[in-house]
Order: sequence, then structure tokens, then C-alpha cells
Amino acid sequence: MERETDVIIVGTGAAGLFCALQFPEETKVTIITKEDAESSDSFLAQGGMCMLRSEEDFDGYFEDTMKAGHYKNNKASVEVMIRSSQHIAQKLIDYGVEFERRNGELAFTREGGHSRPRILFHEDITGKEITGTLLEQVKKRKNIKLYEYTTMLDILCKDNVCYGLVIQMPDGKVDILTAPDTVLACGGIGGLYRHSTNFPHITGDAIAIALRHKISLQDVNYVQIHPTTLYTEKQGRSFLISESVRGEGAVLYNAKMERFVDELQPRDIVTAAIHKQMEEDGKPYVWLSMEHIAKEDILSHFPNIYKRCLEEGYDVTKECIPVVPGQHYFMGGIQSDLEGRTSMKHLYAVGETSCNGVHGANRLASNSLLESLVFAERAAEDVLKQKKQTQELRASEVNMSGNYKAAGELFTPEKYVDLEEFNQENKQMVRQEIERMKKEYEQQHNHDIKCG
Ligand SMILES: Cc1cc2nc3c(=O)[nH]c(=O)nc-3n(C[C@H](O)[C@H](O)[C@H](O)COP(=O)(O)OP(=O)(O)OC[C@H]3O[C@@H](n4cnc5c(N)ncnc54)[C@H](O)[C@@H]3O)c2cc1C
Repeated sequence: MERETDVIIVGTGAAGLFCALQFPEETKVTIITKEDAESSDSFLAQGGMCMLRSEEDFDGYFEDTMKAGHYKNNKASVEVMIRSSQHIAQKLIDYGVEFERRNGELAFTREGGHSRPRILFHEDITGKEITGTLLEQVKKRKNIKLYEYTTMLDILCKDNVCYGLVIQMPDGKVDILTAPDTVLACGGIGGLYRHSTNFPHITGDAIAIALRHKISLQDVNYVQIHPTTLYTEKQGRSFLISESVRGEGAVLYNAKMERFVDELQPRDIVTAAIHKQMEEDGKPYVWLSMEHIAKEDILSHFPNIYKRCLEEGYDVTKECIPVVPGQHYFMGGIQSDLEGRTSMKHLYAVGETSCNGVHGANRLASNSLLESLVFAERAAEDVLKQKKQTQELRASEVNMSGNYKAAGELFTPEKYVDLEEFNQENKQMVRQEIERMKKEYEQQHNHDIKCG
């Protein structure tokens, strides 16, 4: 591996790969990922990706996003995301992504919290279709080098400027990788939870690094629990039953086989209703029935869910399945602006690891793939723009050998001798910060209620 590059990207999810593809061939891009390139949450996305269908739907889409987010969203971020959606969808199609079509026109489905169908999809494996296509494109680019089983342990920084990373190589050795610009695209925090739909290796490493280096965070108390994951007593990642199943007509039943909630409300509301019902029933799950969806629609729109449930012993075309809420998404993260810039110079954050307030307190279904792509593209554009504007200054400030030296001074290998302890400490720090912010939020909320 070359230790000096132009741009480092951490993560091979939708955000990291899309960001990499925006750089011209003269920019050397190095992407690293902790596991194999396919093991990202982006590959798991089932439901789809939102798109503004026409100007007439702008207000509706905006309001649905704000309402799901309890109006805590940053309006400017929401507007940028929605306004960019058609252009992002077109870019994906140009890369080779195949969205479902009816009579040649793009088809749209609906999920909880959406007032109308506006979600592009590919069967129930939209994430695999999008991210797999991006990965194929990345592999074709000569200027992009991708290293698997290579873990970011830390960043190299001095006087609030980032110079690159401390990494662990596949053979376990600790080394450094330097670049004028670094983009963190390392996903959420699901690996910190016992029940989560996320890959277990996605443990909020960037959030721990931000805490260590006092990089600003935002909304870390906002953690989304998905209402419907398949209930099983087996250990491991929880299997998601996409919201679009309910969007297409599936209903929830309690132990007496009665409906107890409007299934198309935003996730946090449906989750709360399920938790309450489970307590009343004294059961660790409620039932989900697809009886109102035609068998051929289940088989064509949800083949992956059908197959997986069958493996678990349930035929969804004939019987209900037990479902339980599970950790799913992190709305908070490293504070970033509309260009993905963080509070540290030359350090960017995009996708689930970042927070520009677009989701507010609760993400609207199918907004996250879109958000990851929109702001990854903007971050890449910003890196290129800054590079152009400050070329002379940066030639002296960040010339690569000088940069390497600065990084060398900062790199103290002793810090990473006991990596098990270092990683455990990271996880602990993130958990504590989430709990601390939750408490602070509750106190503030109670205070506001009392005062007002
Ligand atoms: C089951 C499931 C279904 C979903 N369905 C939908 C949906 O239908 N629509 C939608 O919009 N969203 C959906 N989401 C959410 C969406 O997939 C993710 O929020 C989004 O794709 C995040 O993309 P990302 O690129 O930011 O992160 P990820 O795709 O999670 O990628 C993170 C990457 O960072 C790497 N990484 C992490 N830490 C390190 C480290 N220390 N060093 C090196 N590499 C590291 C990981 O290996 C991985 O490659 C779903 C999520 C799940 C889990």
C-alpha cells in the first residue's frame, strides 16, 4: 500500500464509494474498509431510495421528512437532499443501477411516514443493487485503490488539522496513511447493541475518534429503533422486515390477532406501540401478517424476505411472522455542514457517521441512502474546490513529505499496543456519550415542559 495519497475515504458503503467516484482520474483516492468491501449496511438496504417525483410533491416530501424528524431537522439540509434527489437517481442509473420500472417508467413504492409513494426500489434488495453497482464502478477506476480488512484506529491531527489516519493492516500491524483530505464514511453504531439490524463490526469508531480529539458531535441521543425485525432466539444480526411490506398492506396483530396501531405512522411511534403491546401481551414479539398482499406481489417485490422467513420456518404467503423492534439507524453523528465539513480542517464526514440534521430526531424511511449519496457528492466537490482555491498555500502547508513528517511526530505507536483495550475503550466512550446526551435531553425536555 502507498502510504501517501490525495484523498483517504474510510468505508465502502454507499457514502464512501459514491464519494470516491466523484474524483477525477488525476486525484489519487485510497479507500479502506474494516471487513470485505460488501460488508456494509448499505448492502443490506431493502426498501429503497426516495426521490422527488415532481415539483408538486416537494412540500409533501419536505413535510413528511420534518414530521418524522419531530421538526428537529435542519431545514436547509432537508431542502438540499430533496432538491438533489433526481440528479442523484439519474447518476445511479447512468452507473448501471436498475430500479423497478412499470411500462418503461420508474416505479415507486411507499413506506411508513410517507404521504404518497416516492421510493425507488429494486425488488427488496435495493441496497445491494445500488452499492454493488458503485463497487463495480470503483473497481474500474485506476485512480482509486481499495484495501479490505484495513481498519482506521485513529486520525493523525495537529492544531485541529487532519493529516490522515493510523490504520491496522490485514496482518495486524499498525501503520499510518497520510493525505491532505480525509473523508469518514464509516456508518452507524449498530455493533454496540445486542439486537441490531446492522453489521456487528460497525461500532461507531469515528464517533469515538471524534470524542478523543474534541471534534464536534451532534444529536447523538437520536438512535432509531426499527419497529419490525424478525423475532428469533438465535444470536446475531437481526433480520429486517422492511417498512415497505407495511407500505404495501401488511398489518400488525397482538396476541389476540387484533390490530393495535396504524402501521404507516413514523417508526418511533409504531415502535412505541409495539413495545406497549408486547408488555400487555407478556410476549417478546407481536405478529405481522401479509395476508392482504397478493402472493405474486410478495414473491416479486419481497423475494429476499420471503426466502429468509422460509429459512426460519415461516411461509409469509400463508402465515404471520413474529416481529420485534431492533436498533437500526443513528441519526446523530459527527457534526457536518452541507459540504460534509467537520469542525476539524481537512476532515469530512458523510453518510450515517455524520450529522447535518437532515433526519432530525427520527429518520423517514428510505431517506438515508439518498442522504448518504447527496452529501458524499458535495464533500468530494468541496475537496476539489478547496484544492483549487488554496493550491499554492497547500503546496507548502501540506506537501506530502512535510505532511508525512508532521504525521510521524504525532504518531505514537505505544498508544495502540493493546488494541483490544483500545477498541473496548472506544465502544465504552460512545455508549457513555449517547447515555449522557439522552439524560441531558430528557432533563432539558422536562424543564421545558415545566416552564412552558
Ligand atoms: C437492514 C437495513 C436495511 C436498510 N434499509 C434501508 C432502505 O431501504 N433505504 C435507506 O435509505 N436506508 C436503509 N438502511 C440504512 C442505510 O443502509 C444506511 O444508513 C446507509 O446505507 C449508510 O451508508 P454509509 O455508507 O454511511 O455506511 P455503511 O453502508 O454502513 O458503511 C460503513 C462502512 O465503513 C466501514 N468501517 C466502519 N468502521 C471502520 C473502521 N474503523 N475502519 C475502516 N472501515 C470502517 C465498514 O466496514 C463499511 O464499509 C438500511 C439499513 C439496514 C441495516
